[in-house]
Order: sequence, then structure tokens, then C-alpha cells
Amino acid sequence: SSIFAAVEMAPRDPILGLNEAFNADTRATKVNLGVGVYFDDNGKIPLLAAVKAAEEARLKAAPPRGYQPIEGPAAYNNAVQNLLFGKDSALLANGQVVTVEALGGTGALKIGADYLKRLNPAAKVYISDPSWENHRALFESAGFVVDNYAYYDGATRGVNFDGMKASLKAMAPGSIVVLHACCHNPTGADLSDAQWAEVVELCQAGGLVPFLDMAYQGFAEGIDADAVAVRAFSASGLQFFASSSFSKNFSLYGERVGALSIVTANKDEAARVLSQVKRVIRTNYSNPPIHGGALVAAVLSSPELRAMWEEELAGMRDRIRAMRTGLVDAIKAAGVTQDFSFVVKQRGMFSYTGLSAAQVEQLKSDFGIYAVSTGRICLAALNTKNIGYVADAIAKVL
Ligand code: PLP
Repeated sequence: SSIFAAVEMAPRDPILGLNEAFNADTRATKVNLGVGVYFDDNGKIPLLAAVKAAEEARLKAAPPRGYQPIEGPAAYNNAVQNLLFGKDSALLANGQVVTVEALGGTGALKIGADYLKRLNPAAKVYISDPSWENHRALFESAGFVVDNYAYYDGATRGVNFDGMKASLKAMAPGSIVVLHACCHNPTGADLSDAQWAEVVELCQAGGLVPFLDMAYQGFAEGIDADAVAVRAFSASGLQFFASSSFSKNFSLYGERVGALSIVTANKDEAARVLSQVKRVIRTNYSNPPIHGGALVAAVLSSPELRAMWEEELAGMRDRIRAMRTGLVDAIKAAGVTQDFSFVVKQRGMFSYTGLSAAQVEQLKSDFGIYAVSTGRICLAALNTKNIGYVADAIAKVL
């Protein structure tokens, strides 16, 4: 018999399943609020003008396609470091930071997880309750036991900060804490700057290993403002991990562009850590692909393209914010008295709306509006054409 005869069907990815159902829906008014992708006001995934310009220049130069260094090109890794840590960072000047190119934010988390498993195999990993659904699976597949720390407060639709602090205090030294650097997915609820300072102190006091996941830099307040957590940990003297994704802020989803940065205690340590991380990469995919990283490096290192990108990034950020305000206003205008102003306070692409699974189901069956059963919606899928329809539908299912 076949060697695959006993293989069971793995459970479907809930969000990809939602996309399949959406694609099969024939209603012209259907709206997909389930995905984690930024769409423009025409409902299209943008190709940023800065990226297009960099791409055209590359095409013209027609460079050869040799292997890249295992860790990716220095021009890319340096550009990423400057974005994440700030170009005046003392850690960068000291050579304490290891940065390697990775296959998107997901690839960065996986390299980091695999390396951490070698570094400290007995450590436990903690992710926020709730978190991006892949966090648990990624760290479990690296061999870790994964648990939650308290994070979201359904009553305030914000952060349960007392609960979070209690969770951090209860962790064993050496525990790995995965933190959303900004634009928390799925809730949209972020920590304040002052709260980050407290989290840094607790990580320091508890001997914890922070792993900052930065998937949306520039989507909340701005490039530097969104790096406040990274900067606070940088100033603390702690060692920590940070993953970067350029899927959203460069609209390069399918090119798989990201990076893993590891802050070590000194330059000598950094060299040794890099040598070990390279082994992890070498035995996974050897070295990263060229194209996406070359575009990001080109945009970040050209003053002209960089200015163009910053403007386009601000445009995406402002559009999401306008959709947040617009949705709250339109729900109110539809006669709903329940307070939805929390949607404006939440940041990034997502909102935990508080809609129940039954209400989400009704949005789908009665209106062709698709959301995650937890009530998470993607604000970046709203536009000036569908926002009224969505607000009216929400008003009807409440
Ligand atoms: N981390 C978080 C919190 C995310 O929301 C995402 C994407 O949805 C990622 C990581 C992964 O990003 P990428 O598509 O670059 O792998």
C-alpha cells in the first residue's frame, strides 16, 4: 500500500478557508474583512511607486544572479538595522547587533525560534492572549512548549496591563516572550510608551528573553514612533530578538522580505552568534532570494526613493485611520447607540470589534461580509465604496 495511506488531512488554515468561501461567493456586494492585507481605496493591493522605480532601475541594470551571502547582503541588513534601531543607535555603532535577511517576518521568526531552541532548549515560550495564530505554531514546530500571557481585555477593548504584568512576573528566568512591537494582530490594542518602559523593566528583572515581532512598522504613528518598543529595549542593555517584515509597509507580500535582528552584549558575541545563525539558515534554504531585498535596500538607501516611500507609507497609514473614523461615524449614523469609539484608538490594520461568532456568521450569510469568527476585521479592506454597506450591515446584526 502507499506510504501515505494513513496520512490524515491537516486542519484548514481558518483565514485561508475564509478566502476560499469569499471567492466562491457570487454576491456583487461581498466584502472580505478577513484577510491581513492592505488594499487601496479601489480594493487593490498597491504596487508602491518607490518600489516600481527601484524595480525598473534593477531591470535596466540587469545584474547577474549569483548566490547571496547566507545572511543576505550587507546593504540590505544595514538598511534594516537603521530602520529598526535608528541610524544613531549606539548598539549599531558598537557592532552588537546581528541582522540577517529572512523570508518575510515569518521566516525571521522561524530562524529565531530554531536558533533559540539550540541556545536554550528548555526555555518556555509565551505569546500574547490572543496572538497572530502562526506564533504558536511556529514556536511549537521549533520544539518549544508555548503558553499565553494575559494581554487583551474584552471589557475595555484595550490591554489588560495588570494581567500582562502579573504574567511577566510569573515567568521563569530564560523564558522567551514574544511581543508585538506595534499594531497588535489581531486586536489592534497596543501598549503606551510608559507601559513599554514597564515591560522592559519586568523583562530585565525577570531575566526574560524578549522577541519583538515588528510586522507593521510605519502603520500606526510613523517609522520611528512605531519603533518605540525596540528603542526602549535597546536602551536597557538587555539582549533580545526582533523580527522585521516588509510585506505590509512595502506591499511586497509575495516577495517574502524580512529580517531577523539579535542584540548581543558586544561585538565579539555578535560574531559568534552570527556564525551560529548562519548554520540555521544554511541548513534550511542556504541563502535568501535576491529580488525583494534588493528593492527594499534600494528604496531605503536612495534619499529620493526613501522620501517617496515615506510619503506612500504615510498615505497607507492615513487611509486606515480614515477608515477607522469613518466606520465609527457610519455605525453611529446607522442608529447604533453602542459605543464603537475604541475602533479609533486601536492601531494598525486590525480591530477586535467585539462582534460575536454568531454575528460574524450573520454578516457572512445575510450580507456577504467575511470576518474572522473572533470578531477581527481588517480596516485596510474597507474603502469609500464599501464602508457604508459594512456599517449598515454591522448595525443590523448587533
Ligand atoms: N507577525 C505578525 C504579527 C503578522 O501579523 C504577520 C503577518 O500577517 C507576520 C508576522 C508575518 O509577516 P510575513 O508575511 O512577512 O511573513
